[in-house]
Amino acid sequence: MRAAYLITPYQFELRDIPIPKPGKGEVLVRVTAAGVCGSDLHFYSAGRIGEVVLDQPFVMGHEFSGVVEDAGEFSAEFPKGARVAAEPSIPCGTCFYCRENRPNLCLNLTFVGFPPKGGGYAEYIALPKENLHRLPDCIPDSQGPLVETLAVAIHTAELMGDTRGKSVAILGAGPVGLLTFLHLRHCGASVVYMTEPVESRREFARSLGVPMVLQPDDLQAIAEQERFLDGVGPEYVVEAAGEPASYAQAMQIVRRGGTVVYCGIYPHGAMSIDFTPARRKELRMIFVRRSLPRNYSEAICLAASGEVNLAPFCRTIYPLDQIANAFQDACERVSGLVKAILHPVGPEQDTRNR
Ligand SMILES: [Zn+2]
Ligand SMILES: [Zn+2]
Repeated sequence: MRAAYLITPYQFELRDIPIPKPGKGEVLVRVTAAGVCGSDLHFYSAGRIGEVVLDQPFVMGHEFSGVVEDAGEFSAEFPKGARVAAEPSIPCGTCFYCRENRPNLCLNLTFVGFPPKGGGYAEYIALPKENLHRLPDCIPDSQGPLVETLAVAIHTAELMGDTRGKSVAILGAGPVGLLTFLHLRHCGASVVYMTEPVESRREFARSLGVPMVLQPDDLQAIAEQERFLDGVGPEYVVEAAGEPASYAQAMQIVRRGGTVVYCGIYPHGAMSIDFTPARRKELRMIFVRRSLPRNYSEAICLAASGEVNLAPFCRTIYPLDQIANAFQDACERVSGLVKAILHPVGPEQDTRNR
C-alpha cells in the first residue's frame, strides 16, 4: 500500500509498504479521507509539536474516516464495508485519569498520527475497535475527518458549561473556531463576533452566519463591540487561533470576571505573557486538550441531524500523491481552502451505500 511519509520539514515521500496486520482487538480500515490539521502543519513546518520532535520519517494524519476491510472477531459490529470515523486517541484505560473518566489526559496516551504511531495518510491502517465510530450514510466520506474537529468543538463547549444566553467572542476562524461557533450557537450562546486575519476566512465565516467578523488588529472595531454588551467585553473569549498574540488579546477583550478559553494549539517554546489583566479582572481560564470519546457520537449526531453542517468545510480534496500541495496550500491559507482533505484511495470514490 502507499503511505505518505514526512521525511524532513516541508518534504514528503510516497512509499510502498506492506498493509498492516491488525493486532489483537484491532480492525483493519481502508482510509477514504484524511484531513490536514493545524497541528500537522506544525510538524510539517517545524518538525515538532511541543516536546515531540520528528526524528525519523513519519506518517501523520489523525483526522480520518474509512471503510472496514477486516474486523476479524468483531465482524458482527463492524462488517466489511462499514463506514467509520476514526478517533485518534488511544488511552490506556487503567491510569488515574482514565479511571476518572478523563481519557484525554491519560498518562500513557498513544495518539494516532503522532510519533510513534503512524496515522491516516496511508491507504490502510489498523486501529483498536474502540476507536471506530460508525458513520451514517448521510455523512459523505469527505466529511468524515471533520468529525474529529467537531468533537474538539463539542468538548470545548462542554468545558465552558452552560452558555445559554451568554456573550462569546471567538479569536480565529479556522475549522476549530468555526465549528465551535456553530456548536455554541446550537447550544444557545450568543457569539457576538469572531476575529480572523485572513480575508477569505473572514468571508467564509460570514457565509456561515457569524454576525460580525473583524480583523484581530482592528482594536477600535473590537472595542466598539462593547456598545452592544453593556459597555463591557464579552463574557467568554475563545482563543482558537493558537497565536501568541491572541493568547494575550483574549485576556484584554474579555469582560472583568469573565472566562477565557484556550483551545488553539500554542506553538512550541516559552512565550512571555503578562497575566496582570487576568488577575486584575479576576478571570477564569480554561484550557482544552482534544476531546473525549463520547464527543464523537455527539459530533456524528449533530452532523447527521444537520444541526452542524460539515459540507462547506471540506470542499477541497487532493489525492494522496498531491499531499505536498495540500500542505503547502494549507500553510499559505490559500483563498477558499478551509480544510484540506486527502483521499488516499483516489479522489473519485464515495463509499456510501455500498
Ligand atoms: Zn487535529
Ligand atoms: Zn490512561
